[in-house]
Amino acid sequence: MNKPIVKPSPPKPAARKPRRKRSKYSREEIREIFRRFAIQRPEPKGELEHVNAFTLLVAVALSAQATDAGVNRATRKLFEIADTPEKMVALGEDTVGEHIRTIGLWRNKAKNVIALSKALIENFGGEVPPSREAMVTLPGVGRKTANVVLNMAFGEPTMAVDTHILRIGNRIHLAPGKTPEQVEDELVRIIPREFMQHAHHWLILHGRYVCKARRPECAKCVIADLCKYEDKEATTPAPLAPIAA
Ligand code: SF4
Repeated sequence: MNKPIVKPSPPKPAARKPRRKRSKYSREEIREIFRRFAIQRPEPKGELEHVNAFTLLVAVALSAQATDAGVNRATRKLFEIADTPEKMVALGEDTVGEHIRTIGLWRNKAKNVIALSKALIENFGGEVPPSREAMVTLPGVGRKTANVVLNMAFGEPTMAVDTHILRIGNRIHLAPGKTPEQVEDELVRIIPREFMQHAHHWLILHGRYVCKARRPECAKCVIADLCKYEDKEATTPAPLAPIAA
């Protein structure tokens, strides 16, 4: 007896990659959001004190899990006596540690400050390299730190996603993403080029002072009419005027 012919089952469709969420804002809305931020803070500044690219790099590396004000208190004296990698290495790990003892994880951070200073001397002639790929090879320097330094010291239009930007990106559906990299990619994709230089400062300051973690202060918000957060508490934007600071 002939065996019944068994037809091969059709191949299963390849599992689809989950689609990455995109911004819920139109181009015009995004442009309007950043136009207003630019009026509010025409020249936003980072709040970490520094005197050159090297001290900025050290300050940003120290600021992980610490406040800018706390880092400034610790680095003010340190940078007076050590504003180059050579001087930092000469100071030594113990003395650096004494200066930054008030910052969380100070032991490890002191070790990294010395190691990154040595690496700058050995591999980059004592200068902070103006490239992300090079910077992330330094001990204790990650993508976010490199992005901040590239933006502030070298004028690169990078987006350094911190806790405030991660929250805003998701809360108001501006740049949804589970990781800082996903939020970074989406912000870089949607923000018009002319606003990129200051965009990360505007978003950080908006998150720090208005769209706060626990409860956003929507009544003070200049983009309340555009915001797509479901639970926002205002729909009329606050008056638009330059802010001192
Ligand atoms: S309206 Fe409220 S939730 Fe929306 S961006 Fe402004 S502060 Fe944040």
